[in-house]
Amino acid sequence: MRVLISGASIAGLTLAHWLARHGFTPTVVERAPGLREGGQGVDVRDQAIEVVERMGLMADVRARAADVGAMTFVNGAGRDQARIDIDAIKAKNATGEVEIMRGDLVGLLHAATDVEYLFGDSIQALDQDAEGVTVTFESGLERRFELVVGADGLHSNVRRLAFGPESRFLQHRDHYFAFANADASLGVDRQMTVHNLPGKMAGVYRSGNHAQAKAYFIYRSPEVDYDHRDLEQQRAMLREQFADVSSWHTQGLLASALADPAMYFDSLSQVRMESWSSGRVVLVGDAAYCASPASGAGAELALTGAYRLAIELAMAGGDHEAAFRRYEEGQRELVTRKQQIGPNVRLMVPRTRLGMRVRNLVARLPLAGMERIMAPRKVTPLPTYVSNSKTQFSDDEKRV
Ligand SMILES: Cc1cc2nc3c(=O)[nH]c(=O)nc-3n(C[C@H](O)[C@H](O)[C@H](O)COP(=O)(O)OP(=O)(O)OC[C@H]3O[C@@H](n4cnc5c(N)ncnc54)[C@H](O)[C@@H]3O)c2cc1C
Repeated sequence: MRVLISGASIAGLTLAHWLARHGFTPTVVERAPGLREGGQGVDVRDQAIEVVERMGLMADVRARAADVGAMTFVNGAGRDQARIDIDAIKAKNATGEVEIMRGDLVGLLHAATDVEYLFGDSIQALDQDAEGVTVTFESGLERRFELVVGADGLHSNVRRLAFGPESRFLQHRDHYFAFANADASLGVDRQMTVHNLPGKMAGVYRSGNHAQAKAYFIYRSPEVDYDHRDLEQQRAMLREQFADVSSWHTQGLLASALADPAMYFDSLSQVRMESWSSGRVVLVGDAAYCASPASGAGAELALTGAYRLAIELAMAGGDHEAAFRRYEEGQRELVTRKQQIGPNVRLMVPRTRLGMRVRNLVARLPLAGMERIMAPRKVTPLPTYVSNSKTQFSDDEKRV
Protein backbone atom coordinates (compact mmCIF):
# COMPACT_ATOMS: atom_id res chain seq x y z
CA MET A 1 0.00 0.00 0.00
CA ARG A 2 1.38 3.39 -1.01
CA VAL A 3 0.64 5.99 1.66
CA LEU A 4 1.24 9.71 1.20
CA ILE A 5 1.89 11.58 4.46
CA SER A 6 1.75 15.38 4.45
CA GLY A 7 4.06 16.87 7.12
CA ALA A 8 7.54 15.78 8.26
CA SER A 9 7.20 16.53 11.95
CA ILE A 10 6.53 14.39 15.01
CA ALA A 11 3.30 12.75 13.79
CA GLY A 12 4.31 12.34 10.13
CA LEU A 13 7.75 10.88 10.81
CA THR A 14 6.49 8.47 13.47
CA LEU A 15 3.73 7.25 11.19
CA ALA A 16 6.14 6.80 8.26
CA HIS A 17 8.52 4.82 10.47
CA TRP A 18 5.85 2.38 11.65
CA LEU A 19 4.19 1.99 8.26
CA ALA A 20 7.53 1.20 6.61
CA ARG A 21 8.24 -1.32 9.34
CA HIS A 22 5.01 -3.13 8.55
CA GLY A 23 5.50 -3.38 4.80
CA PHE A 24 3.73 -0.22 3.59
CA THR A 25 5.40 2.23 1.19
CA PRO A 26 5.15 5.71 2.73
CA THR A 27 6.10 8.96 0.99
CA VAL A 28 6.40 12.09 3.13
CA VAL A 29 5.76 15.50 1.57
CA GLU A 30 6.88 18.56 3.59
CA ARG A 31 6.27 22.11 2.51
CA ALA A 32 9.46 23.44 4.12
CA PRO A 33 12.73 22.88 2.19
CA GLY A 34 14.04 20.68 5.02
CA LEU A 35 13.14 19.48 8.51
CA ARG A 36 11.78 22.27 10.72
CA GLU A 37 13.80 22.04 13.87
CA GLY A 38 12.48 25.02 15.86
CA GLY A 39 10.55 25.03 19.10
CA GLN A 40 11.38 24.49 22.72
CA GLY A 41 10.97 21.49 24.99
CA VAL A 42 8.26 18.90 24.35
CA ASP A 43 7.33 16.07 26.70
CA VAL A 44 7.65 12.38 25.95
CA ARG A 45 5.55 10.72 28.64
CA ASP A 46 3.32 7.77 29.50
CA GLN A 47 2.34 5.82 26.36
CA ALA A 48 4.53 8.03 24.19
CA ILE A 49 7.52 6.55 26.04
CA GLU A 50 6.32 3.09 24.99
CA VAL A 51 6.12 4.19 21.36
CA VAL A 52 9.62 5.70 21.39
CA GLU A 53 10.97 2.67 23.24
CA ARG A 54 9.48 0.33 20.63
CA MET A 55 11.27 2.43 17.99
CA GLY A 56 14.53 1.81 19.85
CA LEU A 57 15.03 5.55 20.40
CA MET A 58 14.36 6.06 24.10
CA ALA A 59 18.03 5.92 25.11
CA ASP A 60 18.82 8.64 22.53
CA VAL A 61 15.90 10.74 23.75
CA ARG A 62 17.13 10.45 27.34
CA ALA A 63 20.69 11.31 26.27
CA ARG A 64 19.39 14.55 24.74
CA ALA A 65 16.94 15.42 27.55
CA ALA A 66 16.41 19.15 27.89
CA ASP A 67 16.81 18.71 31.62
CA VAL A 68 14.73 21.69 32.68
CA GLY A 69 14.26 21.18 36.42
CA ALA A 70 12.15 24.13 37.55
CA MET A 71 9.75 26.82 36.51
CA THR A 72 10.29 30.10 38.33
CA PHE A 73 7.89 33.05 38.33
CA VAL A 74 9.68 36.40 38.70
CA ASN A 75 8.53 39.97 39.23
CA GLY A 76 9.56 42.98 37.16
CA ALA A 77 12.85 43.28 39.04
CA GLY A 78 13.65 39.61 38.38
CA ARG A 79 13.03 38.52 41.99
CA ASP A 80 11.57 35.01 42.49
CA GLN A 81 7.90 35.03 43.44
CA ALA A 82 7.19 31.31 43.25
CA ARG A 83 8.74 28.19 41.89
CA ILE A 84 7.53 24.81 40.66
CA ASP A 85 10.12 22.11 41.26
CA ILE A 86 9.70 19.96 38.16
CA ASP A 87 12.59 17.65 39.15
CA ALA A 88 10.92 16.85 42.48
CA ILE A 89 7.53 16.21 40.85
CA LYS A 90 9.06 13.90 38.26
CA ALA A 91 11.03 12.04 40.94
CA LYS A 92 7.91 11.59 43.05
CA ASN A 93 5.75 10.36 40.20
CA ALA A 94 8.63 8.20 38.87
CA THR A 95 7.07 7.96 35.43
CA GLY A 96 10.31 8.26 33.50
CA GLU A 97 8.98 11.11 31.35
CA VAL A 98 11.52 13.14 29.43
CA GLU A 99 11.49 16.68 28.09
CA ILE A 100 13.45 17.09 24.88
CA MET A 101 13.89 20.02 22.51
CA ARG A 102 11.38 19.59 19.71
CA GLY A 103 14.10 19.90 17.07
CA ASP A 104 16.15 17.13 18.69
CA LEU A 105 13.14 14.79 18.72
CA VAL A 106 12.33 15.56 15.08
CA GLY A 107 15.98 14.87 14.15
CA LEU A 108 15.95 11.48 15.93
CA LEU A 109 12.64 10.43 14.36
CA HIS A 110 13.89 11.43 10.92
CA ALA A 111 17.17 9.52 11.30
CA ALA A 112 15.15 6.40 12.17
CA THR A 113 12.79 6.72 9.20
CA ASP A 114 14.20 5.70 5.85
CA VAL A 115 11.40 6.51 3.38
CA GLU A 116 10.86 8.71 0.33
CA TYR A 117 10.75 12.44 1.16
CA LEU A 118 9.48 15.27 -1.04
CA PHE A 119 10.72 18.47 0.60
CA GLY A 120 9.62 21.89 -0.62
CA ASP A 121 6.30 20.69 -2.01
CA SER A 122 2.68 20.52 -0.92
CA ILE A 123 -0.53 18.82 -2.00
CA GLN A 124 -2.67 20.98 -4.28
CA ALA A 125 -5.58 18.63 -4.98
CA LEU A 126 -6.91 15.24 -3.90
CA ASP A 127 -9.17 13.14 -6.09
CA GLN A 128 -10.51 10.01 -4.36
CA ASP A 129 -12.10 6.98 -6.01
CA ALA A 130 -12.86 3.42 -4.88
CA GLU A 131 -9.26 2.19 -5.29
CA GLY A 132 -7.15 5.13 -4.31
CA VAL A 133 -6.37 8.84 -4.40
CA THR A 134 -4.87 10.82 -7.27
CA VAL A 135 -2.73 13.56 -5.79
CA THR A 136 -1.63 16.69 -7.61
CA PHE A 137 1.26 18.55 -6.00
CA GLU A 138 2.03 22.27 -6.19
CA SER A 139 5.16 21.36 -8.15
CA GLY A 140 2.92 19.95 -10.89
CA LEU A 141 3.76 16.33 -10.04
CA GLU A 142 0.77 13.93 -10.15
CA ARG A 143 0.86 10.58 -8.34
CA ARG A 144 -1.41 7.85 -7.16
CA PHE A 145 -1.61 6.52 -3.56
CA GLU A 146 -3.93 4.09 -1.78
CA LEU A 147 -4.17 6.36 1.31
CA VAL A 148 -3.38 9.98 2.17
CA VAL A 149 -2.61 11.16 5.72
CA GLY A 150 -2.65 14.75 6.93
CA ALA A 151 0.08 15.14 9.57
CA ASP A 152 0.48 18.79 8.63
CA GLY A 153 -0.32 20.51 11.88
CA LEU A 154 -2.83 23.03 13.19
CA HIS A 155 -3.43 24.65 9.78
CA SER A 156 -3.56 21.30 7.96
CA ASN A 157 -3.72 21.51 4.20
CA VAL A 158 -5.09 17.95 3.89
CA ARG A 159 -7.86 18.76 6.38
CA ARG A 160 -8.89 21.76 4.28
CA LEU A 161 -8.90 19.73 1.05
CA ALA A 162 -10.74 16.68 2.41
CA PHE A 163 -12.94 18.06 5.21
CA GLY A 164 -13.50 21.77 4.56
CA PRO A 165 -12.31 25.19 5.77
CA GLU A 166 -10.39 25.30 9.05
CA SER A 167 -12.88 27.73 10.60
CA ARG A 168 -15.17 24.70 11.04
CA PHE A 169 -12.68 22.85 13.20
CA LEU A 170 -10.41 25.39 14.96
CA GLN A 171 -11.44 26.74 18.34
CA HIS A 172 -9.57 29.85 19.42
CA ARG A 173 -8.63 29.58 23.09
CA ASP A 174 -8.25 33.33 23.73
CA HIS A 175 -4.47 33.64 23.40
CA TYR A 176 -1.58 33.92 20.93
CA PHE A 177 1.92 32.58 21.55
CA ALA A 178 5.43 32.75 20.08
CA PHE A 179 8.60 30.67 20.50
CA ALA A 180 11.95 31.87 19.19
CA ASN A 181 15.69 31.64 19.78
CA ALA A 182 17.10 33.89 22.48
CA ASP A 183 20.48 34.75 23.91
CA ALA A 184 21.45 32.18 26.59
CA SER A 185 22.49 34.96 28.99
CA LEU A 186 18.82 35.92 29.37
CA GLY A 187 17.93 32.61 31.02
CA VAL A 188 18.97 30.58 34.03
CA ASP A 189 20.51 27.19 33.27
CA ARG A 190 17.99 24.31 33.38
CA GLN A 191 15.08 26.59 34.17
CA MET A 192 12.07 28.13 32.61
CA THR A 193 11.69 31.66 33.96
CA VAL A 194 8.35 33.38 33.59
CA HIS A 195 7.33 37.01 34.05
CA ASN A 196 3.66 37.98 33.99
CA LEU A 197 1.59 41.07 33.51
CA PRO A 198 -2.18 40.60 33.59
CA GLY A 199 -3.08 38.55 30.49
CA LYS A 200 0.54 38.47 29.27
CA MET A 201 3.57 36.28 29.78
CA ALA A 202 7.17 36.65 28.68
CA GLY A 203 9.44 33.75 29.48
CA VAL A 204 12.80 32.22 28.77
CA TYR A 205 13.48 28.53 28.56
CA ARG A 206 17.02 27.28 28.90
CA SER A 207 17.74 23.61 28.46
CA GLY A 208 20.77 22.01 30.08
CA ASN A 209 22.22 20.77 26.79
CA HIS A 210 21.80 23.66 24.37
CA ALA A 211 23.92 26.75 23.93
CA GLN A 212 20.91 28.85 23.08
CA ALA A 213 17.85 29.76 25.13
CA LYS A 214 14.27 30.06 23.86
CA ALA A 215 12.07 33.10 24.27
CA TYR A 216 8.44 32.29 24.97
CA PHE A 217 5.53 34.76 24.81
CA ILE A 218 1.81 34.31 25.41
CA TYR A 219 -0.83 37.04 25.40
CA ARG A 220 -4.56 37.11 25.76
CA SER A 221 -6.49 38.36 22.76
CA PRO A 222 -9.75 37.75 20.96
CA GLU A 223 -9.40 36.07 17.58
CA VAL A 224 -7.66 38.26 14.99
CA ASP A 225 -7.89 37.76 11.25
CA TYR A 226 -4.29 37.38 10.00
CA ASP A 227 -2.26 35.34 7.55
CA HIS A 228 -0.63 32.52 9.53
CA ARG A 229 2.12 32.27 6.89
CA ASP A 230 3.04 35.96 6.97
CA LEU A 231 5.90 36.22 9.48
CA GLU A 232 6.15 40.03 9.12
CA GLN A 233 2.54 40.41 10.20
CA GLN A 234 3.11 38.06 13.14
CA ARG A 235 6.17 40.06 14.22
CA ALA A 236 4.05 43.22 14.17
CA MET A 237 1.37 41.54 16.31
CA LEU A 238 3.92 40.40 18.89
CA ARG A 239 5.69 43.79 18.91
CA GLU A 240 2.43 45.62 19.48
CA GLN A 241 1.71 43.54 22.58
CA PHE A 242 5.12 43.72 24.25
CA ALA A 243 6.83 46.89 22.96
CA ASP A 244 5.83 48.90 26.03
CA VAL A 245 6.66 46.21 28.63
CA SER A 246 9.90 47.44 30.14
CA SER A 247 10.05 45.14 33.18
CA TRP A 248 12.47 42.21 33.61
CA HIS A 249 14.22 40.96 30.40
CA THR A 250 11.12 41.41 28.27
CA GLN A 251 12.73 43.82 25.79
CA GLY A 252 15.82 41.63 25.32
CA LEU A 253 13.63 38.59 24.67
CA LEU A 254 11.39 40.52 22.32
CA ALA A 255 14.39 41.74 20.30
CA SER A 256 15.66 38.12 20.03
CA ALA A 257 12.28 36.80 18.93
CA LEU A 258 11.80 39.52 16.32
CA ALA A 259 15.26 38.83 14.90
CA ASP A 260 14.76 35.05 14.64
CA PRO A 261 13.85 34.10 11.04
CA ALA A 262 12.29 30.85 12.35
CA MET A 263 10.09 32.44 15.04
CA TYR A 264 7.07 30.18 15.59
CA PHE A 265 3.91 32.20 16.19
CA ASP A 266 0.31 31.01 16.25
CA SER A 267 -3.01 31.30 17.98
CA LEU A 268 -3.58 29.10 20.99
CA SER A 269 -6.19 27.03 19.21
CA GLN A 270 -7.53 23.52 19.40
CA VAL A 271 -8.81 21.27 16.65
CA ARG A 272 -12.10 19.53 17.40
CA MET A 273 -13.53 17.11 14.83
CA GLU A 274 -16.27 14.51 14.99
CA SER A 275 -14.33 12.17 12.71
CA TRP A 276 -10.68 12.10 11.69
CA SER A 277 -11.17 10.30 8.39
CA SER A 278 -13.02 10.84 5.15
CA GLY A 279 -12.84 7.94 2.70
CA ARG A 280 -9.17 7.18 2.03
CA VAL A 281 -7.92 10.32 3.79
CA VAL A 282 -7.14 10.42 7.51
CA LEU A 283 -5.62 12.96 9.90
CA VAL A 284 -3.13 12.49 12.74
CA GLY A 285 -1.50 14.72 15.39
CA ASP A 286 -2.26 18.45 15.52
CA ALA A 287 -4.07 18.28 12.16
CA ALA A 288 -6.77 16.11 13.77
CA TYR A 289 -6.74 17.00 17.47
CA CYS A 290 -4.36 19.82 18.33
CA ALA A 291 -4.58 20.45 22.06
CA SER A 292 -2.29 23.56 21.83
CA PRO A 293 1.11 24.14 23.46
CA ALA A 294 -0.73 24.95 26.71
CA SER A 295 -1.59 21.25 26.99
CA GLY A 296 2.06 20.22 27.09
CA ALA A 297 0.81 17.14 25.22
CA GLY A 298 1.33 17.87 21.51
CA ALA A 299 4.21 15.41 21.14
CA GLU A 300 2.49 12.76 23.26
CA LEU A 301 -0.68 12.92 21.13
CA ALA A 302 1.31 12.92 17.88
CA LEU A 303 3.49 9.94 18.87
CA THR A 304 0.68 7.78 20.24
CA GLY A 305 -1.77 8.72 17.47
CA ALA A 306 0.70 7.97 14.67
CA TYR A 307 1.65 4.65 16.26
CA ARG A 308 -1.97 3.58 16.74
CA LEU A 309 -2.87 4.50 13.18
CA ALA A 310 0.05 2.54 11.70
CA ILE A 311 -0.55 -0.54 13.83
CA GLU A 312 -4.30 -0.56 13.15
CA LEU A 313 -3.60 -0.31 9.41
CA ALA A 314 -1.14 -3.19 9.64
CA MET A 315 -3.56 -5.33 11.63
CA ALA A 316 -6.51 -4.57 9.35
CA GLY A 317 -4.70 -6.09 6.38
CA GLY A 318 -5.80 -3.44 3.89
CA ASP A 319 -9.23 -2.64 5.36
CA HIS A 320 -8.56 1.05 5.92
CA GLU A 321 -12.11 1.79 7.08
CA ALA A 322 -11.82 -0.70 9.95
CA ALA A 323 -8.34 0.62 10.78
CA PHE A 324 -9.46 4.26 10.86
CA ARG A 325 -12.40 3.34 13.10
CA ARG A 326 -10.19 1.48 15.56
CA TYR A 327 -7.58 4.27 15.55
CA GLU A 328 -10.25 6.77 16.54
CA GLU A 329 -11.69 4.48 19.22
CA GLY A 330 -8.26 4.03 20.75
CA GLN A 331 -7.07 7.63 20.62
CA ARG A 332 -10.20 9.68 21.49
CA GLU A 333 -10.05 9.25 25.25
CA LEU A 334 -6.52 10.62 25.54
CA VAL A 335 -7.31 13.51 23.20
CA THR A 336 -10.40 14.52 25.19
CA ARG A 337 -8.41 14.54 28.41
CA LYS A 338 -5.46 16.49 27.02
CA GLN A 339 -7.69 19.14 25.47
CA GLN A 340 -8.72 20.28 28.96
CA ILE A 341 -6.18 23.09 29.18
CA GLY A 342 -8.00 25.61 31.41
CA PRO A 343 -5.84 25.11 34.56
CA ASN A 344 -2.58 25.27 32.56
CA VAL A 345 -3.56 28.57 30.95
CA ARG A 346 -4.57 30.05 34.31
CA LEU A 347 -1.23 28.95 35.74
CA MET A 348 0.86 30.46 32.95
CA VAL A 349 -1.15 33.59 32.13
CA PRO A 350 -3.36 34.82 35.01
CA ARG A 351 -5.80 37.47 33.80
CA THR A 352 -5.47 39.89 36.73
CA ARG A 353 -2.92 40.97 39.36
CA LEU A 354 -5.02 39.17 41.95
CA GLY A 355 -4.88 36.03 39.79
CA MET A 356 -1.08 36.36 39.65
CA ARG A 357 -0.89 36.58 43.46
CA VAL A 358 -3.16 33.55 43.90
CA ARG A 359 -1.11 31.58 41.39
CA ASN A 360 2.11 32.45 43.23
CA LEU A 361 0.58 31.39 46.55
CA VAL A 362 -0.60 28.07 45.13
CA ALA A 363 2.75 27.41 43.48
CA ARG A 364 4.52 27.98 46.82
CA LEU A 365 2.56 25.22 48.57
CA PRO A 366 4.57 22.01 48.89
CA LEU A 367 4.48 20.56 45.38
CA ALA A 368 1.22 22.50 45.04
CA GLY A 369 -0.88 19.52 44.01
CA MET A 370 1.13 19.57 40.77
CA GLU A 371 2.35 16.09 41.51
CA ARG A 372 -1.23 14.83 41.27
CA ILE A 373 -1.96 16.89 38.16
CA MET A 374 1.12 15.50 36.40
CA ALA A 375 0.56 11.89 37.48
CA PRO A 376 -0.28 9.54 34.60
CA ARG A 377 -3.78 8.13 34.36
CA LYS A 378 -5.02 4.99 32.69
CA VAL A 379 -6.03 5.25 29.04
CA THR A 380 -6.79 2.72 26.30
CA PRO A 381 -3.68 0.52 25.99
CA LEU A 382 -1.59 0.79 22.85
CA PRO A 383 -2.22 -1.93 20.28
CA THR A 384 0.48 -4.55 19.79
CA TYR A 385 0.97 -6.33 16.50
CA VAL A 386 3.09 -9.30 15.53
CA SER A 387 3.46 -9.30 11.79
CA ASN A 388 2.71 -12.53 9.99
CA SER A 389 5.76 -12.31 7.75
CA LYS A 390 5.56 -10.09 4.69
CA THR A 391 8.43 -8.00 5.94
CA GLN A 392 11.66 -9.05 7.58
CA PHE A 393 11.73 -8.25 11.29
CA SER A 394 14.41 -8.59 13.88
CA ASP A 395 13.46 -10.47 17.06
CA ASP A 396 12.97 -7.19 18.87
CA GLU A 397 10.72 -5.79 16.20
CA LYS A 398 8.60 -8.96 16.12
CA ARG A 399 7.62 -8.41 19.70
CA VAL A 400 5.87 -5.13 18.81
C1 LIG B 1 8.65 24.86 13.85
C2 LIG B 1 7.74 24.35 14.93
C3 LIG B 1 8.01 24.67 16.27
C4 LIG B 1 7.17 24.21 17.29
N1 LIG B 1 7.48 24.50 18.58
C5 LIG B 1 6.72 24.00 19.59
C6 LIG B 1 7.07 24.21 20.96
O1 LIG B 1 8.06 24.84 21.27
N2 LIG B 1 6.25 23.72 21.93
C7 LIG B 1 5.13 23.02 21.61
O2 LIG B 1 4.41 22.60 22.51
N3 LIG B 1 4.80 22.77 20.33
C8 LIG B 1 5.56 23.23 19.31
N4 LIG B 1 5.22 22.99 18.00
C9 LIG B 1 4.03 22.18 17.73
C10 LIG B 1 4.30 20.72 18.01
O3 LIG B 1 5.32 20.23 17.19
C11 LIG B 1 3.01 19.98 17.78
O4 LIG B 1 1.99 20.50 18.64
C12 LIG B 1 3.00 18.51 18.15
O5 LIG B 1 4.24 18.00 18.36
C13 LIG B 1 2.26 17.71 17.09
O6 LIG B 1 3.08 17.52 15.97
P1 LIG B 1 2.53 17.34 14.53
O7 LIG B 1 3.54 16.52 13.83
O8 LIG B 1 1.13 16.86 14.56
O9 LIG B 1 2.43 18.82 13.93
P2 LIG B 1 3.55 19.92 13.70
O10 LIG B 1 4.70 19.73 14.58
O11 LIG B 1 2.88 21.23 13.71
O12 LIG B 1 4.08 19.62 12.21
C14 LIG B 1 3.36 19.83 11.04
C15 LIG B 1 4.33 19.72 9.87
O13 LIG B 1 3.59 19.82 8.65
C16 LIG B 1 4.25 20.71 7.79
N5 LIG B 1 3.27 21.30 6.88
C17 LIG B 1 2.39 22.29 7.12
N6 LIG B 1 1.67 22.55 6.03
C18 LIG B 1 2.09 21.69 5.07
C19 LIG B 1 1.72 21.46 3.73
N7 LIG B 1 0.78 22.20 3.11
N8 LIG B 1 2.35 20.49 3.04
C20 LIG B 1 3.33 19.74 3.62
N9 LIG B 1 3.73 19.93 4.90
C21 LIG B 1 3.11 20.88 5.61
C22 LIG B 1 4.90 21.72 8.73
O14 LIG B 1 5.94 22.43 8.09
C23 LIG B 1 5.38 20.81 9.84
O15 LIG B 1 6.63 20.25 9.55
C24 LIG B 1 6.03 23.42 16.96
C25 LIG B 1 5.75 23.11 15.62
C26 LIG B 1 6.60 23.55 14.61
C27 LIG B 1 6.28 23.18 13.16
